[in-house]
Amino acid sequence: MELAQFFALIGKKPTILAAELPLMPQLDSYLEAFIMKKLKKDKIPVIPLAETQVSAGKLYHKDAEVPFDRVINASFRTAVLPPMDIKLKLEDGYIATDSSHQSSVPGIYAAGDVNGKSYLAHVASAQALEVIAAIQGTPVSDEQRHYPLNIYTDPELAQIGLTEEQVKASGVGFKINQYPLTANGKALAEGESEGFIRVIYETHYHEVLGVQIAAANATDLISEAGILLELEGTTYDLARTIHAILLWLRYIWTRGASRSK
Ligand SMILES: Cc1cc2nc3c(=O)[nH]c(=O)nc-3n(C[C@H](O)[C@H](O)[C@H](O)COP(=O)(O)OP(=O)(O)OC[C@H]3O[C@@H](n4cnc5c(N)ncnc54)[C@H](O)[C@@H]3O)c2cc1C
Repeated sequence: MELAQFFALIGKKPTILAAELPLMPQLDSYLEAFIMKKLKKDKIPVIPLAETQVSAGKLYHKDAEVPFDRVINASFRTAVLPPMDIKLKLEDGYIATDSSHQSSVPGIYAAGDVNGKSYLAHVASAQALEVIAAIQGTPVSDEQRHYPLNIYTDPELAQIGLTEEQVKASGVGFKINQYPLTANGKALAEGESEGFIRVIYETHYHEVLGVQIAAANATDLISEAGILLELEGTTYDLARTIHAILLWLRYIWTRGASRSK
C-alpha cells in the first residue's frame, strides 16, 4: 500500500494485485475499510490475484488488459537459513522458538524475522532485548506484549492491542469511542484532518483493550496508546491526561509554510 501510494504520488499508475483480501488480515477491519476507500479515492485499483490471467507477458483482469511496465513483489518473506550441521527445529521454514526466543537447541536463540513470529523491525528489536534478558537470567514473561502495527501510508495507519474482531471473539462486553480528526482543532490547523482515533474498551472497568488510528502522525501517536495498554489504563486515565498544544504558533507556521510553496 505504501509503495502503491508512493508511485501514484510520482505520477505512475500503480495497481495492487492482492494475494488475498483483506489485504492485511491482522489489521482491524475498520482501518482496512478506511485504507481501501482511500486507495479508491487515489485511483489505485486493488485486484484479487485469483481474478487475473497472464498471457503472452500481458496481465488481464476480467478480459481487460491491465497495463504495467514493472512488477514488484511485496508479499511476505521467508527465512534465510545458512547451511549448517546443527539441526534446529523449523516451523513453516522458520526457526521454532519458545517464549524467550530460544531454539530447539539450548543456547541458540533466534530473534526477529527468522523465527516467523512477526515481520516488524521494532518487534525484532524487542525480541533481541528479551534474548539478552533471558541469557542474563531474567525470565521473559509469557504474557502477550503489545506491539504496535504501523503502516506508513498517507495518512498513516497504526493499531495496538486487540482489534474489534478479536474483542468480539473474546466475548468481553465492550464499547468503542471514535473521534474524527475533523473535530480536532490541531489537526484542522495543520491541514491534516483526514482520519480518526478509535478506542476499544471493556465495559466493566473501562480498561482500554485496543486503539486504532488513521492520521498523518498515527505511527507516533500510537506510542501513547502503547503506554496506556502496558499500564492497563482505562478511558478515565486517558480522559484525565491533559494534552498541551501550541495551536496558534503552529497555525501560523503551517499556513506560512504552505503559502511559501
Ligand atoms: C521493503 C521493506 C520495508 C519494510 N518496512 C518496515 C517498516 O516500515 N516498519 C517495520 O517495522 N518493519 C519494516 N520492514 C521489516 C523489517 O525490515 C524487518 O522486520 C526487520 O529488518 C527484521 O530484523 P531482523 O534483525 O530480524 O532481520 P534483518 O534486518 O533481515 O537482519 C538479518 C541480518 O542477518 C544477515 N545475515 C543473513 N544470513 C547471514 C549469515 N549466514 N551470516 C551472517 N549474517 C547473515 C543479513 O545480511 C542481515 O543483515 C520492512 C521490510 C522490507 C523488506
